[in-house]
Amino acid sequence: MLQSNLLLTTLREAPSEAETSSHQLLLRAGYIRQLAAGVYTYLPLGRRVLRKIEAIVRDEMDASGAQEVLMPSMQPAELWKESGRYEVYGKELMTLQDRHEREFILGPTHEEVVTTLVRNEISSYRKLPVTIYQIQTKFRDERRPRSGLLRGREFLMKDAYSFDISSEGLDKSYIQMFNAYHQIFKRCGLEFRAVHADSGAIGGEGGSHEFMALAGIGEDTIAICSSCDYAANLEQAEALRPVKNEFVMQVAEIEKFHTPDIRTIDQLEQELDIQQELIIKTLVYEGGGQTFAVVVRGDHEVNEIKVSKYLGMTEIKLAEYDAVKSLAGVESGFVGPVGLPLTILVDAAVAGMTEGITGAGEKDYHFRNVVPARDFSLEQVGDFRNVAEGDVCPHCLEGVLHFQQGIEVGHVFKLGTKYSEKLGASYLDRSGKSQPMIMGCYGIGISRLMSAIVEQHHDEDGMMWPKTLAPYQVHILIMSVKDAEQVAVAEGLYEQLTKLGIETLIDDRDERAGVKFKDASLIGIPLCVVVGKQAAQGSVEYLERATAGKEVLVIMEVMSRIKEFYSPLI
Ligand code: ATP
Ligand code: MG
Repeated sequence: MLQSNLLLTTLREAPSEAETSSHQLLLRAGYIRQLAAGVYTYLPLGRRVLRKIEAIVRDEMDASGAQEVLMPSMQPAELWKESGRYEVYGKELMTLQDRHEREFILGPTHEEVVTTLVRNEISSYRKLPVTIYQIQTKFRDERRPRSGLLRGREFLMKDAYSFDISSEGLDKSYIQMFNAYHQIFKRCGLEFRAVHADSGAIGGEGGSHEFMALAGIGEDTIAICSSCDYAANLEQAEALRPVKNEFVMQVAEIEKFHTPDIRTIDQLEQELDIQQELIIKTLVYEGGGQTFAVVVRGDHEVNEIKVSKYLGMTEIKLAEYDAVKSLAGVESGFVGPVGLPLTILVDAAVAGMTEGITGAGEKDYHFRNVVPARDFSLEQVGDFRNVAEGDVCPHCLEGVLHFQQGIEVGHVFKLGTKYSEKLGASYLDRSGKSQPMIMGCYGIGISRLMSAIVEQHHDEDGMMWPKTLAPYQVHILIMSVKDAEQVAVAEGLYEQLTKLGIETLIDDRDERAGVKFKDASLIGIPLCVVVGKQAAQGSVEYLERATAGKEVLVIMEVMSRIKEFYSPLI
């Protein structure tokens, strides 16, 4: 491709609203352009990268036995009402009406459509299992579209759905997808972790893993073990129960002390010099029409998902200031578990403490020498907190957990029969009995993945595409297009490379060398061949973008170096 013909304008500065590196670079290097908030055009370079990601995804999906289909984006709203998700998705659904005022939505995902499809196509166990997938534009009216392709309102997703006749069958389909995802992300040059994930709102039974690209700007916190391969979302990571001290220590009687205006853990630590792990904090929550207290150590955070699950509630929230005051008899900074007229859920780390400091249930007072079980009830003890950095790994019991930020690029999920039951996707088993199909769903954010890759592969000068995804494989830079010799050598090389099927971009613009180098670094093609003054002697410069390696080579050599670099891809 001649760069002079390419629809490409590079920008010196990124628009101010672009905060993450990938957003800035994709705009600056002319890969994408914004049309509206969270809505983007892919320019030729961006489209090429996207196609390469799609090709890898297709390759691995096909190899796993999944079959490609293409379902409509436009879906009757009734279908979503039938599944009950019309309400759940709420404002995130993009809606429209046809000329007969029938309501439609633009698909944010396709469980409803695919379940209806399979319900009509398959009626016997003989046709199962089956896994189908598509690569398609999705629409979600996100509250806060941000970071360019990372959170769009219109974005590209690969979604797959498996249908099985038994839970063992589902396990098998799930593992097949899980393995295919590993292959896909590996081939995309991504540093990632598959983490145990909370099943969130999609519902259904069974397991779920999220594939996280490790990146400082990621919205999710992942707890990773220092010694085994355990990795889990912060919301999901399991906290080990502490070993209770076997020696019964005699702790003095509970004692009230004056703490005027000291309401927070930080104040207790700073003003009274009390270590946070010696404090017991009590938070009042509301959920399912009830009010209750959760008690955790001062240095720990309540995990609301774990608490909701324990109580079988869909959502809980901290009680308002006034509600706390009327229920606990004191404002929140002085609430404690001793004598509290509420059900209390005690985190296991607190239950393992010998003694601690708590609010005294009276304004401007705290208790010391508070002993769990002696001074407050341990009837309901469980894992109610987020893990903390340095906690022992719940899997190997040897390593410790540390935190990293991640971008969710993929999600595999055992749905069970949630949709097949609601939408009537059943089959006849061997004995002729009707059974609901057992489903799994599996997504990859293709456009988000493109951004996540840039987050991991760039430097201050621009992008550095992995070999498998670069929009072109070789970038030839002609230093002076006025020099006929340089042009002839560059064109000769371009022809040879093109003949070999090596995708080559040739910078044939009448621009200064500095401009060409800057643009080439920004665009980030893995290999550059610089054709300059030495062309007259049959030599060119060979540059590797990622390592900044630079060598002068004769033309024959450059060809074999390029082939070697891309082996076994070409
Ligand atoms: P998130 O928590 O980031 O909103 P999600 O849990 O809503 O993601 P899924 O419904 O599991 O996402 O969708 C499958 C995949 O689609 C995700 O793993 C992610 O990679 C991608 N994805 C989801 N929402 C967006 C978006 N707004 N823009 C780009 N990609 C997205
Ligand atoms: Mg979402």
